[in-house]
Amino acid sequence: MATAPRSKIMSFRETLQSQHAARKNDGLWRSVRTLESQQGVDVKVEGRSLINFSSNDYLGLASAPEMKLAATEAVEKWGVGAAASHLVCGHQSPHALLEQDVADFVGAAAAIVFSTGYMANLAVPAAFLDRHDLLLQDKLNHASLIDAGQLCRANSRRYRHLDVNHAAELLANETRKTMLSTDGVFSMNGSVAPLADLNQLINRGVSDNRMLLVDDAHGFGVLGKNGAGSLSHFEMKPTGNVLLVGTLSKAIGAFGAFVAGDRIWIEHLIQYARPFIYTTALPPSIVAAARCGVRLVREQSWRREKLTQNIATLQKLAEEFGIELLPSETPIQSVVFGSPQKATLASHGLQAAGFLVIAIRPPTVPEGTSRLRITLSAEHDETHIASLVRALAECIA
Ligand SMILES: *Cc1c(COP(=O)(O)O)cnc(C)c1O
Repeated sequence: MATAPRSKIMSFRETLQSQHAARKNDGLWRSVRTLESQQGVDVKVEGRSLINFSSNDYLGLASAPEMKLAATEAVEKWGVGAAASHLVCGHQSPHALLEQDVADFVGAAAAIVFSTGYMANLAVPAAFLDRHDLLLQDKLNHASLIDAGQLCRANSRRYRHLDVNHAAELLANETRKTMLSTDGVFSMNGSVAPLADLNQLINRGVSDNRMLLVDDAHGFGVLGKNGAGSLSHFEMKPTGNVLLVGTLSKAIGAFGAFVAGDRIWIEHLIQYARPFIYTTALPPSIVAAARCGVRLVREQSWRREKLTQNIATLQKLAEEFGIELLPSETPIQSVVFGSPQKATLASHGLQAAGFLVIAIRPPTVPEGTSRLRITLSAEHDETHIASLVRALAECIA
């Protein structure tokens, strides 16, 4: 963040103005773009049709007719608002059924619904760690897990991205209770965490004093058996000392999140997770849509097959055109430009050519690694991808 000289006392407005000027000067100014259409591959921005390569609707469920029907039928039956927090009277049958559905899907004993993945991630470390404990995280973990480190009282340490040996080094001779937290699939580069190795690491603790928290926002619905997520990809389940956060807002196409694991962890969250206790329960119609999304993910393997095919198509064409993608086997495929200005310019160029591909800049990604983050969906076809790659090659040239 830009810091203003301290020589004179600045007003709030002067401070903001100087921060804004610095941010603009650094090419890091952010603005909100309004979509004038429903989510999907064809979207409308400023009156123009664009092919969308930026959403997390990996399976094309956000606007699927089955999902709309599930939501509207639930509005008729359950009304609009949940009217209270879960522990007061906001927890309705759809919430209870969703918890059973997701627990069953990921092979956990129990699950608890949260309003957002951000809140679930904020909740978990603070609920299980106190100031004598350690929170160890991957350096590129999602902002919500990083923020969770500030909210909980534990000591926070970070290991190099995906580097199990570095994590092991930091844990050598460590006797404190430790939560190791990682994204399952990293949101900004698509890499998959080495969950089996990390699990081994937590099992080396003394007297069972380590746990693993996996934030599977981008793996749930996409990876693993029937889309059960990153843990399933490694033939693991959220049991023992492993906890899973899954979101219902990305591949599932709805909204909300859950934490799944052994019953004792879930019961503890009901007692102590402030972002669960002190907020209104999700609207039951959204919960019904999320249940529908989970069902479709489990039943319709063609969506994942098409997505896999699209990933292969993009990788093949990018190679043909000499475009370097970050290594990733997931629908998140990134092209690093380095400076934020270059990444922004490329994004604008693609928009002019009819594509929505957002530039991702610091602080979302590390300094010097500004990039275009291309996300694929089961709804893309080969023509979409081929025309994107051609336009991208032109932008780079
Ligand atoms: C999107 C995301 C979240 C937050 O989930 P929401 O339900 O959108 O709040 C958490 N972790 C990761 C890795 C994400 O990409």
